[in-house]
Amino acid sequence: MTAQIPHYVNGQRSAGQSTRSQAVTNPATGQVTGQVMLAEVVDVDVAVAAAQAAFPAWANMPPIRRARLMNEFLRLVRENKEALATAITQEHGKVFTDACGEVERGIDIIEFACGMPQLLKGDYTEQVSTGIDNWTVRQPLGVVAGITPFNFPVMVPMWMFPVAIAAGNTFILKPSPTDPTASLLYADLMKQAGFPDGVFNVVHGDKVAVDALIDHPDVKAISFVGSTPIANAIYERGAKQGKRVQALGGAKNHMMVMPDADLEKTVDALIGAAYGSAGERCMAISVAVLVGDVADQIVPMLAQRCRELNITDGMDLAAEMGPIVTAQAKERIEGYIQAGADEGAELLVDGRGFTVAGQEEGFWLGGSLFDRVTPDMKIYLEEIFGPVLACVRVDTFAEGLQLINDHEFGNGVSLFTRDGNVAREFQRQVQVGMVGINVPIPVPMAWQGFGGWKRSLFGDMHAYGEEGVRFYTKQKSVMQRWPESIEKGAEFVMPTAK
Ligand code: NAD
Repeated sequence: MTAQIPHYVNGQRSAGQSTRSQAVTNPATGQVTGQVMLAEVVDVDVAVAAAQAAFPAWANMPPIRRARLMNEFLRLVRENKEALATAITQEHGKVFTDACGEVERGIDIIEFACGMPQLLKGDYTEQVSTGIDNWTVRQPLGVVAGITPFNFPVMVPMWMFPVAIAAGNTFILKPSPTDPTASLLYADLMKQAGFPDGVFNVVHGDKVAVDALIDHPDVKAISFVGSTPIANAIYERGAKQGKRVQALGGAKNHMMVMPDADLEKTVDALIGAAYGSAGERCMAISVAVLVGDVADQIVPMLAQRCRELNITDGMDLAAEMGPIVTAQAKERIEGYIQAGADEGAELLVDGRGFTVAGQEEGFWLGGSLFDRVTPDMKIYLEEIFGPVLACVRVDTFAEGLQLINDHEFGNGVSLFTRDGNVAREFQRQVQVGMVGINVPIPVPMAWQGFGGWKRSLFGDMHAYGEEGVRFYTKQKSVMQRWPESIEKGAEFVMPTAK
């Protein structure tokens, strides 16, 4: 018997009218553990109607009261951190300790959203003309939707819904059907925290549900995180209908290593950033750009560490890397490893064929390491999204910088050096949205906002932080005067300050 994983609409779990479902597996064992319902258009319509019905009262509730409910949700998420992390590990495969870290980064955003009364404060200018004042307020949009990827089933939805809801919107989440269970856990916690029914809804599904959400006239904005082709398509479809869309896409994150970098610490950073979460992070480092003679020193160290990775069931607290999320993803990554070898890159460590005793049906892959990768190769150009690190050798800082700036993705980037001036020039000139200096995975904190450049983000607003608040609210300007200050007589010319 496998569990049926239903939608969550108007405060209740419900299968709705869905007749289609998709198998959910535990990647460590390969066993099917559940069947997630896939919404039809009618299921989306029901969810949007519930969210639309909840919107007026929710938007009218004073922000401080909305924030208090968010504060209660924060308490409950903290209390249930382990249950959420377990759900992540059992369906995604990432190691439990990393899953706890994911929940923590989600908690950061809930904390940020608890400050919404301050964030919603408008501007006020007194006496813009004699007897006239002008101010701005930010008001919620209505029903907004979030479509999220498999790789952070707790954190990425929490980039969106705490901010949107605290700002006065109602929300429909369409999570990845690959690891859907966590979304129902936090939907229950939202209800326990006291959020009115219809404020937060979860609709599981595929393209049918996503298109229905984008096309529904009552859905005012779409936040998307996932791969670049889908991000691009969703951005275009939403924008064509005049909707706000922020669509975060794929990545190919480089780490440039200067000859003066601390080698031991750089290797630690590269190993964690390339193979942590089996490389299935949008901020994972997948390319090491090795400047000058540093390559000859660092590549053997990387190869040794790559072979020694402790890869096993993510529930084992000693695990450094778990399985790949699905059998299809594993096959795709293996295809890239073959392509790299065929194209002439040096495959120093080949992760194919790795398995864990007693769990032979799991989707296992060891870490892979390529040296002498060149910019024309498929493994350099495309996002692999797996535990594969490509080393590219360059002669100079300028050459490395040019390489990074020429890549079609611009999500995250990192530089390891001891030279302050090199670091300064790098962060000024690099054409990437999130930059780390001696920080391998520079995911911005809750109040800074997250977003890449180039084909890593479509739309102009980053996720969460103040950009998130702006995305989920619209500005209204009010100009006011009182009869005592109004002079008699009609005005036929453009009013100016008097
Ligand atoms: P994906 O693009 O396959 O799926 C993302 C979401 O879109 C899911 O909810 C999925 O059900 C839905 N979807 C899939 N196909 C669709 C279609 N044809 N039409 C409409 N919706 C569709 O991505 P994934 O495999 O779940 O996640 C991995 C990708 O996400 C990687 O490319 C990774 O870089 C990216 N990602 C980016 C960020 C970021 O912040 N830029 C963060 C996390 C993940």
